[in-house]
Amino acid sequence: MGGWRFTKGLHDLGRGCFAWLQPDGGWGWSNAGLVSDSGESLLVDTLFDLRLTAEMLAAMRAAVPAAERIGVLVNTHANGDHCYGNQLVSGARIVASRASAAEMEELPPEAMVRAIENAPALGPGGEFLAQVFAPFEFRGIRHTPPTETFDGELRLRVGAKEVVLIEVGPAHTRGDVLVWLPEDRVIYTGDILFIGGTPIAWQGPVDHWIAACERIAKLGAEVVVPGHGPITDAKGALAVRDYLVHVRDRARECYDAGLSPADAARAIPLGPFAGLSDAERIAVNVHTLYREWSRGKSGVANALELFGLMSELARAGARVGS
Ligand SMILES: [Zn+2]
Repeated sequence: MGGWRFTKGLHDLGRGCFAWLQPDGGWGWSNAGLVSDSGESLLVDTLFDLRLTAEMLAAMRAAVPAAERIGVLVNTHANGDHCYGNQLVSGARIVASRASAAEMEELPPEAMVRAIENAPALGPGGEFLAQVFAPFEFRGIRHTPPTETFDGELRLRVGAKEVVLIEVGPAHTRGDVLVWLPEDRVIYTGDILFIGGTPIAWQGPVDHWIAACERIAKLGAEVVVPGHGPITDAKGALAVRDYLVHVRDRARECYDAGLSPADAARAIPLGPFAGLSDAERIAVNVHTLYREWSRGKSGVANALELFGLMSELARAGARVGS
């Protein structure tokens, strides 16, 4: 499978499955999905703000009558670029893993408004945060949490179609979920896959994320819709695994040599992964790995410190093309 164009908007995958893509797939520019059968519909994720989500829903309704009234919304994880538009899918069951639902309470959209407003006064980290999220409008969003949660696995039906929700977190976040359509061989992976951009391990364990990539590759999916970036196939899942293995192994050398996580993030050569966008995210990945290895004694940093280091790496361009 291949040849999917990475253009903004709704892409018909066939088999009653659709992807909504948002180039360039960078910070906040997430993908979503729609599954329909026999007059029923299921939405995979909403977008970062109300304007973007409303635009997507209008396009889905125009193309798919069953999207007029979405029966089920699945949030793949707790990051706002996958759930801040939830309030526009009124009346739907909203399903997420229990771990994701708990995580959503920590940065609801109302708190994001305050964080962004205060950010520019907080130095380089705050400035970088405000800059990468500047295209989005968080004011006026009402926190709309899941109406039901699950642990492990949940099987749903959309018309006659089977949909399997597979919890593979903690990995990118605490409760990442894959949305797998075994009969159609289509999978929506949320942010377990970033294609063309750098994965960011907010939570870890990184080895758990690596296992999730291998699980995706083994499922036999023909069409793989990542959380960010162009539509891919099993090779895309293995490419994300390869990045995580590369960073884990290089970071381990730095850890054993006594480098600080910040110095490790500055020093690690990206090798074959130098072409991925948002390379500065290695700062978060290295901190997460250090936290795992040191059992929380090292690699502890708040979001502002992490965004500060990412700002430095992004400015230096040191991680791009080197
Ligand atoms: Zn995302």
